[in-house]
Amino acid sequence: ASLEKDLDAALRCIREDVRAAHAYPVASSAGMVKLDVMENPFRLSADLQRQLGERLGAVAINRYPAEGTQHLAAALARHAGMPAGCSITLGNGSDELITMLSLALSRPGACVLSPEPSFVMYEMSARYQGLKFVGVPLRADFELDGPAMLAAIAEHQPALIYLAYPNNPTGNLWDAAVIEQIIEAAPGLVVMDEAYQPFAASDAMHWLTRYANLLVMRTMSKFGLAGVRIGYLIGQQALIAEIDKVRPPFNISVLNAEAGLFALEHADVYAAQATELRAQRARVFEALCQLPGVQPYPSQGNMILTRVPDAPALFAALKARGVLVKNSSAAHPMLRNCLRITVGTPDENQALLAAMKESLGS
Ligand code: PMP
Repeated sequence: ASLEKDLDAALRCIREDVRAAHAYPVASSAGMVKLDVMENPFRLSADLQRQLGERLGAVAINRYPAEGTQHLAAALARHAGMPAGCSITLGNGSDELITMLSLALSRPGACVLSPEPSFVMYEMSARYQGLKFVGVPLRADFELDGPAMLAAIAEHQPALIYLAYPNNPTGNLWDAAVIEQIIEAAPGLVVMDEAYQPFAASDAMHWLTRYANLLVMRTMSKFGLAGVRIGYLIGQQALIAEIDKVRPPFNISVLNAEAGLFALEHADVYAAQATELRAQRARVFEALCQLPGVQPYPSQGNMILTRVPDAPALFAALKARGVLVKNSSAAHPMLRNCLRITVGTPDENQALLAAMKESLGS
């Protein structure tokens, strides 16, 4: 009884808003066709997997991370085409970079702004750090609502604006002219989150030479290393130096750094996978268009947001057939009856489309 009482007291130490929140959901997926979280579905070849094993086996894991992290940072900067005058900091996934940004900006009354629907961690992280969050609805066609964004910027004076480019879950890119208006009107920082850049005809890096308040965030997750956890943030040297101060020391493990370096040495393999996934995206999109009552939205990411007659029912029917997608229906009113379908291997996409046809009875 005393343990129970003590636990009760311990739990009361946790902030009310944290206790009322839900943990970030990770669906169980063993044995399923996994099309829920925008992973690259291709594994390394057996030969490359063996080479990676040898490289990881030679890493000195008794030491704290040191030069390996710097080598990885330099290789990522080269890979991304980092402009002169800029520098880079790394996160344990871009999720950690989002946490670092919230931490560096958190002061009483400070506010984070983002179009919505977009990536949920912008809001979650802001709230956990005591920042106010303002979401500005996208237009019905998922384009940025330029006037509404500018009005919200003027009203709320956000310390930070997130623009996911392409956006998650809608998959689209936004009008470059509107993006420039937003960056110019922003009284604080603007983060262009290019998580899906490997699949998109876009590159925000060039804006860094024009805008000192801009940061470009990328990740190795969608590239093909979701399990390794490496994100990176690029901006003006002095700005990155400040944000880097709140980075947990040694946040990139020696094994992660070695795996990241190995992947960049084989960037051609990953580029070929991204090319294949873009071709598969076109194929899945065309096939979804043929299904009755199904409306896929054009995407520049490795996912296709798809409006269906009854998303909860179709989600369950697909799951019963061994296909896991994301039911986005409840995430935002604009996503009512939407499933977010990650583009998989040709076989996985075939399985998805067959299960969709069966489930819709067509
Ligand atoms: N940004 C966007 C837009 C995302 O969709 C995601 C994850 N789905 C992330 C960042 C986080 O990616 P990671 O932490 O794996 O780098």
